[in-house]
Amino acid sequence: MKKSLDFLYKIQKELSIFGGIGSLLDWDQKTYMPTQGAIERSDQISLISRLSHERFISEELWNHVRKLTDPDVLNKLEEKDQIVVKRLEKDIEKARKIPPDFVEELSKTTSLAYVAWQGARENNNFDRFSPHLEKIVELRKRYCEYIGLPGHPYNSLLDDFEEGMTVEKLKQAFSYLKPRLVEILGKIKDSECFNKQRDVKMNFDAENQKQLCFLLIKKMLIPSDKARLDVSTHPFTTSIGNDDVRFTTNYGRKQPLFAFFSTLHEAGHALYSLGLPKDEYKYTVISDAPSFGLHESQSRFWENMIGRSRNFWKYFYPVLQKTFTRQLRSIDLETWYFYVNQVNPSFIRIEADELTYGLHIILRFEIELALIDNNIKVSDLPGVWNEKMKELLGIVPKTDTEGVLQDMHWSVGDIGYFPTYAIGTIYATQLFHQLSQENPEVYNEIGQANFTNILSWLREHVHKHGRVMTAEDIVKNVCGEGLNSRIFISFLKDKYYPLYGV
Ligand code: MG
Repeated sequence: MKKSLDFLYKIQKELSIFGGIGSLLDWDQKTYMPTQGAIERSDQISLISRLSHERFISEELWNHVRKLTDPDVLNKLEEKDQIVVKRLEKDIEKARKIPPDFVEELSKTTSLAYVAWQGARENNNFDRFSPHLEKIVELRKRYCEYIGLPGHPYNSLLDDFEEGMTVEKLKQAFSYLKPRLVEILGKIKDSECFNKQRDVKMNFDAENQKQLCFLLIKKMLIPSDKARLDVSTHPFTTSIGNDDVRFTTNYGRKQPLFAFFSTLHEAGHALYSLGLPKDEYKYTVISDAPSFGLHESQSRFWENMIGRSRNFWKYFYPVLQKTFTRQLRSIDLETWYFYVNQVNPSFIRIEADELTYGLHIILRFEIELALIDNNIKVSDLPGVWNEKMKELLGIVPKTDTEGVLQDMHWSVGDIGYFPTYAIGTIYATQLFHQLSQENPEVYNEIGQANFTNILSWLREHVHKHGRVMTAEDIVKNVCGEGLNSRIFISFLKDKYYPLYGV
């Protein structure tokens, strides 16, 4: 028993280290690597991931796990070891369902598909991507057969990103959300305020934006000896180790607040990663987030619930005004608050406002489900996309680049990922709702940029659990219930109706 347990911890430590090395290589590629390094870098990354996958599905590890999961043995283990062993068994069992040939085929297909997608997007030519996507959909259907979770085949895809989430639960949540989001949007679009609103066009220089972002993360209590903020094309966050988290932003985008809000968002991810269980769970499968949706909830919590609130700007707007005096001199706090919350149906998901964002996700979920159900063909996607845009957002993109080709997810094989963005947004609202009931002072604290209590609350209720429980159970423990779209909808109404005079 001792021998098996030691072996399990030894391998998990190696796998965590491999994971950190892989993340470092990936972080470097996206931030500082010279472009010509790409080919060798992809060899380096694939070697690391192959070595770690081989260890993970090896007979030797599996035999030790099986010995320990024998009920007579398992019951004699300490509670902490039981948790680790059961989690590991579940993870390995799943990984072993996938034949190595399939893993290789999927990886080859997606690396070609990614390049084809980039070309298709640049040339606004869906046909160049279509055959690749057809192959990916076929492979993903095969994947569902291998995993074979009960219920809808798509459950097996969802489970990789959001363990325990099902089509049934999502359909329930989205069928509540969809008509209500459309209704709220409709009312806003009919308002006088909406028809008078203009895009605020202003330029902020990069150096000052950078200073603001660094002030922001200091206020957010990001420890500078455990995290770094750098620059990349698309902002992201990654962990190299428990005490080394990297996140990025981009100061060069056209939208004046892109850098600020993406820093808020990614810093939320970074704080979560830094708060994951260490000590007894360091170097184990437990020291990770239970789902993509819960990770996203932490970024959305800071970005939306805090960063788009009136109190937040009570502190930060004067700072912003001082930095960009020329541009902001004549704009008062209320006008600014309206500006950062302006609703504007747009083609691009990542540029969407808080209200319409969910509709972009529902559109993608419906399409993915229809593809897995054989209800639509890949070649029909551009048309289906545009019809749904019209139905949900009332606008139709002129090009596929601004439509069906905008996201990279499908090209890398990620079908079932999109719903986690909506799940994260809803969880964020529920968590904030709960926090504000437990601590009504939270609004004042935000107004003073004093985030100490907020961060400890998140650490205590969300971060410290790692993968001891599923995301839904973590949320249930804090909020008394799992995914609840009602709280999200009433939050939106309470915020946007007064803003637009509805
Ligand atoms: Mg995110």
